Amino acid sequence: MTNPTTLRAPAPAERMSRVKESPSSRVADRVREFQAAGRKVLPLTIGEPDFDTPDHVKEAAIAAIRAGETKYTSANGTPALQKAITARLLRKTGQSYAGDEICVGGGAKQLIFLAFMATLDEGDEVIVPAPYWVSYPDMVTVNGGRPVTVATTADEGYKLTPDQLREAITDRTTWVVLNTPNNPTGAVYSESELRGLTDVVRAHPHVSILCDEIYDEINYGARPVPSAVTVAPDLRRRIFLVNGVSKAYAMTGWRIGYGAGAAGLCAAIGTLQSQSSSCPSSVSQAAAVAALDGGREFIDRTVGIYTERRDLLVSGLAAIDGLRPTAPEGGFYVWVDASALMGSVTPSGKRITTDAELAEHFLDTSGVVVISGDSYGCPGHFRASFALSSEIIGEAVAGLARSVELLRR
Ligand code: PMP
Repeated sequence: MTNPTTLRAPAPAERMSRVKESPSSRVADRVREFQAAGRKVLPLTIGEPDFDTPDHVKEAAIAAIRAGETKYTSANGTPALQKAITARLLRKTGQSYAGDEICVGGGAKQLIFLAFMATLDEGDEVIVPAPYWVSYPDMVTVNGGRPVTVATTADEGYKLTPDQLREAITDRTTWVVLNTPNNPTGAVYSESELRGLTDVVRAHPHVSILCDEIYDEINYGARPVPSAVTVAPDLRRRIFLVNGVSKAYAMTGWRIGYGAGAAGLCAAIGTLQSQSSSCPSSVSQAAAVAALDGGREFIDRTVGIYTERRDLLVSGLAAIDGLRPTAPEGGFYVWVDASALMGSVTPSGKRITTDAELAEHFLDTSGVVVISGDSYGCPGHFRASFALSSEIIGEAVAGLARSVELLRR
C-alpha cells in the first residue's frame, strides 16, 4: 500500500517565489525544442560565441588532466590562475591586485550571485540601470535585496547618468551595477562618463560599484574598454570588478569567472564557495591560465569577424521600416527599438500590443527567434545576437523584413 506522505516532494522555500528561470535559458530550450521537431529556426538569441575554444587552451586542459591536476583547489583559485588574472588586470587597469583581492568562481555569473549573497541584508538596495542583463534583478531578490531599476534612454546612449544615480541612491543602497560593454545594448561607458558616476559614488561611502566587464575584449572602439577602477583608483576597495573567460575565449562551458576587489569581499565569496561548490573545476582553471596568458591572436581574429557581422546585422535591420537598431560599441548583440510596430495587426487579425507578441509573430512567420525587451526591463524593444554566421544573419534579416511587411499599421 502506498503511503501518501512518502510521495510528497519537498515544498519550495519562500525564496523560490523571488526567482525565476533565466529568460535566456528558457528561450534556448525553446529553440532546441523547435529544432528537435524539425522546424527551421534562425536563433538570433545566441548568448555565446559560436567559435570553438582555441586549441592551445584545450591542450592545456588535456595536459593538466595528464599531470594529475584533477583535485580540489583553494576556493578562490589556483596560484597559477590568480597570477594570470593579476597580470591581466594590471595590463587592463594599471592596478596591481594582491592574491587575496582576487576570487575565482564557476563563471562570472556565480561570482555576481555570491557577491550579492555575501553583502545584502534584507531590504538592501541595488541600483540596476535598465536595459539590464536578465539575471541581476533575480540575483538581488533571491538574496534578500531590492533591485532599484533606473531606465536609461536612447538619447543618453542607454547609459546611467550621474544625476540619475544621485537620485536613485538612498540610505539602503549597497551596490550600483555597471555593465560595460552592456548586454543587451552594447553601450560602453567612456572614461569621462565613468568619472561622473564614480564622483557620485565617492560622495556616498556606503555605496559600492559592481562592474561587470565580461564583454570587455569584444569591443569595436578604443582598447582597453575603460574600467571604473582606472578612473577612480582611490575607490578600489569599493569597486568589485567581474570578468571571465567565457566570452573572450569562447569558453562558456568551462565555467571560469573572476572577481577583483576588497580582500574581505573575496574572502566572504571564498567562504560561500567552500560551503557550496568547494572550488571551481581544476581542469578548467588550468585552461583559463592558458587563455589569459596566451596572447591576443584569438581575440583579434574573432573581433574582426564580429565586426563584419555587426555591420551586416545593423545595416540590415536599419533598412527595415519600423525597426531602429543601435550599433553596439561592444559585445555581440544589437538592441532594436521596435516601438513603432506596437499596435500593428497580423494577417490573422491579431493586434500586437507587447514585444513578446511581436517576437511570437517573427517566430511564426519567418522562424526568427529574438529575445523580447521586457526580459531586459525595457518593453518595445528586442535583442538580436550576431554570434552566428553571416549566412544565418542574412537569412534572418530577410525573414524579419518579410515578417514586418506582413503587419498592417
Ligand atoms: N554578465 C553578463 C552581462 C552576461 O551576459 C553573462 C553571460 N550571459 C555573464 C555575466 C555570465 O558569464 P559567465 O559565463 O562567466 O558566467
